[in-house]
Amino acid sequence: MPTIHEEWDRRQKLYSLLMPVMNLYVPGLDKGKGLYFLFVKSETKTPSGLVARPVLTGYYRSEHFKKRPYDPYNVYTSPDEAILCVDSFQSMYAQMLCGLLMHKEVFRVGAVFASGLLRAIRFLQVHWQQLAHDISTGILNPKITDPSVRECLAGILKPSQELADFIIQECSGGNWERIITRIWPNTKYLDVIVTGAMAQYIPTLDYFSGGLPLACTMYASSECYFGLNLKPMSKPSEVSYTIMPNMGYFEFLPHDPSAPPLSRDSPPRLVDLADVEVGKEYELVITTYAGLCRYRVGDILQVTGFYNSAPQFQFIRRKNVLLSIDSDKTDEAELQKAVENASLLLREFNTSVVEYTSFADTKTIPGHYVIYWELLVKDPSNSPTDTVLKQCCLAMEESLNAVYRQGRVADNSIGPLEIRVVKSGTFEELMDYAISRGASINQYKVPRCVNFTPIMELLDSRVLSTYFSPAAPHWTPERRRTD
Ligand code: AMP
Repeated sequence: MPTIHEEWDRRQKLYSLLMPVMNLYVPGLDKGKGLYFLFVKSETKTPSGLVARPVLTGYYRSEHFKKRPYDPYNVYTSPDEAILCVDSFQSMYAQMLCGLLMHKEVFRVGAVFASGLLRAIRFLQVHWQQLAHDISTGILNPKITDPSVRECLAGILKPSQELADFIIQECSGGNWERIITRIWPNTKYLDVIVTGAMAQYIPTLDYFSGGLPLACTMYASSECYFGLNLKPMSKPSEVSYTIMPNMGYFEFLPHDPSAPPLSRDSPPRLVDLADVEVGKEYELVITTYAGLCRYRVGDILQVTGFYNSAPQFQFIRRKNVLLSIDSDKTDEAELQKAVENASLLLREFNTSVVEYTSFADTKTIPGHYVIYWELLVKDPSNSPTDTVLKQCCLAMEESLNAVYRQGRVADNSIGPLEIRVVKSGTFEELMDYAISRGASINQYKVPRCVNFTPIMELLDSRVLSTYFSPAAPHWTPERRRTD
């Protein structure tokens, strides 16, 4: 994505609005600190010699971030040296250690997306013993070798047997429920994006935080920052973002799934920001200061209302179709809904789907949908039975659209849906793999559909059990007309 230096001034203005808005709803945040897990990646060069890096790496390395004036509302537990360390293990270790050392001062816990915060919790689950050891002895883990991180932690890490004992007590029993509020008892909310593709992490975040409010503060992309949520404490399903008209030039392509595809003969009619209508769905089209011209971001938004004259939008989904075997087209929102519906059957087993991805398996004829599930079984003595997991396959099929079900029932063009349950920690490995290939930790999103051979091999090597839909889903021609 092209960007220009002055873009940071504009983006900084958007960032600077977040805390004044939050302060309207959660007072006293200037008396505590934010534990935010933020990461950078190393830079690369394009063939023409331009620097290429993830947008947030650019921001954390900018003078805007590094030389920010002291602001009591934006004090982080993570030192800049830890955020700016390119080794993701050392960076995470240092940030977690500082978060533990300052645990009583933490008023909010966050990351950019929900997946980043869950990765941090996972890190705590794996490394709490070493972290507690460092706190007990006051000696930093020798695996932290970055000199600037070591130097700055030397000023923060003081031995405290009391704190080490507290961490051991909270982490050693293997019970991770409410771990966030147990370790950071003054946390008032989690600051993570859980709208769009991140919505499926809400139950897991609720489990780790005991249902703390989830604040989705802004809506942004590498191409352009768009806007902010003026009611950050609203429920994730009710979040609307107000687009800031000064961030770029915004136009909207009316989104009508039944309309014929765009062609030269039927050029799109774009609607200006001021002219969008409440209730309608649009695809976001941006023209940026850095040079993108009428660029389709791929996000579908729905107008929910206005703040003064500024329209507000609910994030509906990214446009891309995820799965298709025949004429069926399943997008991210449909797949998410199907996983949600099927996972209701797991409730009585106190089990939830913590991660999922999918694959259109066309090696067999007919092809079929494969859904990889990583489960959180809270009570291993009551784990879901094979019969229930087969019923989950069918429940997913029942949730999918009529074209899919027609393919399954009438046309036999789609085979029974398959669920492959993978070992706990598999999606963590998937993220590690993506990061090793250049993905940014901050901006990483679990792909909801995979087809890259090494990723498939990784997933398949972690499969514990597989289940197929035991029956055909419901479908009738009448139903299809109204669907
Ligand atoms: P990236 O450029 O990798 O940071 O990804 C930007 C994309 O992430 C956006 O175009 C959206 O699809 C998604 N995204 C960013 N912010 C939000 C949000 N607040 N809610 C839902 N999706 C978001």
